[in-house]
Amino acid sequence: MVDFTLTDEQEDIREMAHDFAAKEIRPVAWTYDRGGTWPQGIIEKAWELGLMNSHLPEQYGGVGGSYFDACLVGEELAWGCAAIATTIGANELAATPVLLGGSDQVKEQYLRMLAEEPRLASFCLTEPDAGSDVSSMRTTAVRRGGRYLINGSKCFITNGGYADWYTVYAKTDKDAGHRGISAFVVPKDETVTVDKHEDKMGLRASNTATISFNDTEVPVANLLGQENHGFKLAMMTLDRTRPGVASLATGIARAAFEFASDYSKERIQFGVPIAMHEAIQFMIADMATKIAASRLLVWNSAVLLDQGKRNTLVSSHAKRFGADSAMEVTTDAVQVYGGYGFIKEYPVEKLMRDAKIMQLYEGTSQIQRLVIARETLLPRPVEVPQKPQPLAVAA
Ligand SMILES: Cc1cc2nc3c(=O)[nH]c(=O)nc-3n(C[C@H](O)[C@H](O)[C@H](O)COP(=O)(O)OP(=O)(O)OC[C@H]3O[C@@H](n4cnc5c(N)ncnc54)[C@H](O)[C@@H]3O)c2cc1C
Repeated sequence: MVDFTLTDEQEDIREMAHDFAAKEIRPVAWTYDRGGTWPQGIIEKAWELGLMNSHLPEQYGGVGGSYFDACLVGEELAWGCAAIATTIGANELAATPVLLGGSDQVKEQYLRMLAEEPRLASFCLTEPDAGSDVSSMRTTAVRRGGRYLINGSKCFITNGGYADWYTVYAKTDKDAGHRGISAFVVPKDETVTVDKHEDKMGLRASNTATISFNDTEVPVANLLGQENHGFKLAMMTLDRTRPGVASLATGIARAAFEFASDYSKERIQFGVPIAMHEAIQFMIADMATKIAASRLLVWNSAVLLDQGKRNTLVSSHAKRFGADSAMEVTTDAVQVYGGYGFIKEYPVEKLMRDAKIMQLYEGTSQIQRLVIARETLLPRPVEVPQKPQPLAVAA
């Protein structure tokens, strides 16, 4: 039987995340947005409460939470501020390829580091000339005996300027397109440089950096999975993290909806609250429907993962619909506020700016549609087990 009622434990997790967002994030969110302020104190508190790294298995010091729980947390934190929620959640993106393809020793070393201290890790896939088209990346990893030598630059890396280690994708066979990409864990050392911190339209309290690897050496043991299998690892990672992004989008949309509903009951025009005008009611109704539908897709895509099933299609449905809905809902929230919606003194313009990133990172809405079209026209069974694959680490 399908039952969408949360268990007591899930309600508790959601309530804890909501309290945290209400007390620690909301009160500073708009100030941090204006200043592009790095939320170090909030990261540390979130880590102490177990709101960070909830996906890490207990054997590496984590809490072993489910994907579903992480999505409950994601919606609440993004309701507080999507930039801070992204900062808190980005370790999952870096850690997932390690969980999927790392040796026991690599997992023990790098995942435990995140569990034992409020440290950060970043996922380095994008390059200036390789965004949606990952296969055109130029970063290289050349094997020299027992080590790989990594050279190249990655851009738009979330938490990049503050990370202690990176999951880096590099070409190990330059002529093999996406079949020539491998993934590595790379600790930060003096050969890894932070070249640029981006000044962004939205998500301003998050750090987005250009990171360069200059003759950076890692042991062969830091290869994740098999050589030249990095593209697959990246795609498997995104299947697992897109429900989380969609949960953030739902949280932003919910925040905008709440502000717009309250405002529509207070703002008087033509002698009545604007909520009495049918045009406003219909906007509010459409917002509510989009949020409810986004959440159901998030839950569906996360539950499939928790059941060990392949969720590629539903994950892209959730990311695409959640992101586009967040953009529409926040734009309508600005409309409900009228001219005041355009003014920084009022809360909704920030939400509209933050919503935009949801349509861009972890695969644009166009790329999600490509995935959905492929999965729909050439369907693959959902039942294929997606437990971490035993990708052998090269000796
Ligand atoms: C704030 C922020 C944080 C980020 N964090 C990370 C991170 O932590 N790690 C990381 O690796 N990357 C990160 N990214 C990068 C992000 O994932 C990329 O920006 C995104 O994948 C798009 O790549 P691009 O910007 O090069 O756009 P392009 O790929 O150049 O796309 C430009 C436009 O063309 C469209 N397009 C491209 N190809 C097709 C196609 N085949 N069919 C239809 N339309 C197409 C796109 O949808 C888009 O509208 C981040 C980006 C931002 C802005």
